[in-house]
Amino acid sequence: MTTVHPAPRPETLPRRRLLGPGGPSYTEHLAAFGPLPARPQLIEDVVRSGLTGRGGAGFPAGRKLASMSPGGVVIGNGSEGEPLSAKDRLLLETRPHLVLDGLLATATAVQAKQVHLVVGPVSAPALRHAIAERRDARHIVLTETQDRFVGGEASAVVHLLTGGDAVPVDHPVRLTTRGLRRRPTLVQNVETLAHIAVIARSGADAFRAVGHPADPGTRLLTIAGDVAHPGVLEAPSGASLRDVLAAAEPGRISGALVGGYHGAWVGPEALDRPLAAAAAEGAIPVGAGILLVIGPGTCGLQASAEIATYLAGETAGQCGPCVNGLPVAGELLARIADGDRDPSLVAQLERTLRLVDGRGACHHPDGTARLIRSALTVFADEVRAHRAGHCGAHR
Ligand code: SF4
Repeated sequence: MTTVHPAPRPETLPRRRLLGPGGPSYTEHLAAFGPLPARPQLIEDVVRSGLTGRGGAGFPAGRKLASMSPGGVVIGNGSEGEPLSAKDRLLLETRPHLVLDGLLATATAVQAKQVHLVVGPVSAPALRHAIAERRDARHIVLTETQDRFVGGEASAVVHLLTGGDAVPVDHPVRLTTRGLRRRPTLVQNVETLAHIAVIARSGADAFRAVGHPADPGTRLLTIAGDVAHPGVLEAPSGASLRDVLAAAEPGRISGALVGGYHGAWVGPEALDRPLAAAAAEGAIPVGAGILLVIGPGTCGLQASAEIATYLAGETAGQCGPCVNGLPVAGELLARIADGDRDPSLVAQLERTLRLVDGRGACHHPDGTARLIRSALTVFADEVRAHRAGHCGAHR
């Protein structure tokens, strides 16, 4: 028998909102959160909450909802192609009903005609089961995608649902104006949807009560690299990088890649800033909440070169910067990391990055260029050391 408890009142909202009480079954979910209430002012609440997208771009979620016309399509995006990221998969497998609640509440608020959920092959069985557990979710169309790096981009998800491959396509018109089968289409990351489910129950003020004013609420963060306990945790956005990373027990930190493969490296001096404040100023692209830590034994240039080479191979191969620019940039960075002492390499690399900026159909070239530029800045001493014939990581 299903036990239904009242929704939490704002003042009792826990700091761990998504990964706190609850569980994968609908019974556990209802026991922790109560049923999904009708909330006619949901769009207004999401706007006031200040919730930003948790899929990577960080666009204000309320603005996206408000720009939708009735009769469109809502797509929950659980495609997590970034190799370092595990937070969407964990959320889908342990709290699937929060995601379904957010998807259903969003679809109702924007008066959508169709509701889709796109997830990777590992999460699909859990979601199939969760949808079957509840009557109000039976109309959700679940689609499996292959986890590939550029497959989670919004236009790639729409392209997949039209029967194509999950690759980005040039989209001169906003998807919320004309997307899937020419209908207004809202693509929202699954963590963003889970936060919307919380806002639907507790309202905007309770959401803003935790986190930094510039980017309120909590975030799921995946921590990887030179730490004792890699994994996913939920933290208020006002926390500093150092506080967040403490839970994973890093040793001495010589750098952290914030935001994943399309993010940016920061040095130890940036660890005490609130994550959200730095993100709001554009200094740190928190992106999909990935933190890769390196300690003194890992060469930041080598790590960056490996990532850049991977990214150069992960394109859809349809735009000039990806076909001609990224492989060259990856190779130049690899030569610097491998100790090639040619003094013109950095200038060649910077010139190549300028040529790829803003020239792709999606942000893949820009994100890759940002990662490489940040490596050249944060590991500038390493660049000099490599040119002089040694690597600081092996001293
Ligand atoms: S910029 Fe690169 S990844 Fe993006 S659509 Fe073009 S080829 Fe594909």
